[in-house]
Amino acid sequence: MLATTEIGIDLGTANILVYSKNKGIILDEPSVVAIDTESKKVLAVGHEAKMMIGKTPGRIVAIRPLKDGVIADYEVTTEMLKAIMKKVSKNIGMTLRKPNVVVCTPSGSTSVDRRAIQDAVRNAGAKKVILIEEPVAAAIGAGLPVDEPVANVVVDIGGGSTEVAIISFGGVVACHSIKVGGDRLDDDIIQFVRKEYNVLIGERTAEEIKKEIGYAPIDHEVLTMEIRGRDLVTGLPKTITLTSVEIRDTLKESMLHILEALRATLEDSPAELSGDIVDRGVILSGGGSLLNGLREWISEEIFVPVELAPSPLESVAIGTGKALKFIDKLQHAAK
Ligand code: ADP
Ligand code: MG
Repeated sequence: MLATTEIGIDLGTANILVYSKNKGIILDEPSVVAIDTESKKVLAVGHEAKMMIGKTPGRIVAIRPLKDGVIADYEVTTEMLKAIMKKVSKNIGMTLRKPNVVVCTPSGSTSVDRRAIQDAVRNAGAKKVILIEEPVAAAIGAGLPVDEPVANVVVDIGGGSTEVAIISFGGVVACHSIKVGGDRLDDDIIQFVRKEYNVLIGERTAEEIKKEIGYAPIDHEVLTMEIRGRDLVTGLPKTITLTSVEIRDTLKESMLHILEALRATLEDSPAELSGDIVDRGVILSGGGSLLNGLREWISEEIFVPVELAPSPLESVAIGTGKALKFIDKLQHAAK
């Protein structure tokens, strides 16, 4: 069966999600591509490719073509999108014929980045490609009334970046974007374990540590976790036990950068909107917002209510899909 349809794509640095109005989330996979460096062929995309990170023989590399929220490798991104469109067709049991696509762009992206995203999606088979700013999508997805003249503050913590934006009346009134997101936290953990224990761990292990015993800078009941890596002195596998307190302290500097971006954005807020912010607070989205203790910590630091979006990893995708409703307004705002 063929279907002319409209879909929303959250082209994230860590995960790609596709949303359709009727079916909800129809695809959710890591933004990872496995490539054979000799034949330049794409071997796998998504979950399958992520499993290969750090585990492949020399000529096969698993790469993430999006970095810091923008396209770092254009050709691979296009290939990845083509494969994603195929998977979507399979998931819904229909061929997508030239769908109209709404795709989000990070608020820190340049017009060149935006054009690259638009072209990549078009080359992957879309008919019409509409861009929407990521924080606006996150806000729509979290159910905030973005088209009303009230301030909505969104902090979206993704893999490659954190975007903070104040949105009112369908547009972004103030925003800050920093290249600190979940990936940086993983990297902080890798460096810490190497320095403190002389043990080398991979990205996937670091991510597991972060999710399980990572904490924002707050007091909490201490957790421990056993992990395995390679001893840099003996070269042999080694098991060590980490505590949530040492991981919390390791992540602190990056957490302060995120807080700083939020403070700076609030300082840029038009005075008339400040009252709304005190009443309505701040909403957190993106996978990084799931870090243990983050919501509590931020609300203590900025003295306004802080809420987690209903499904932080899905807000942007849901928002891109729902944005189709008021496309005209958004196209206008994106110019
Ligand atoms: P992007 O929009 O860049 O694709 P996502 O919003 O999908 O990013 O979030 C991915 C990031 O969220 C990754 O860095 C991942 O490690 C992190 N993440 C996911 N779950 C958790 C969790 N429970 N605690 C901390 N970080 C998490
Ligand atoms: Mg995102």
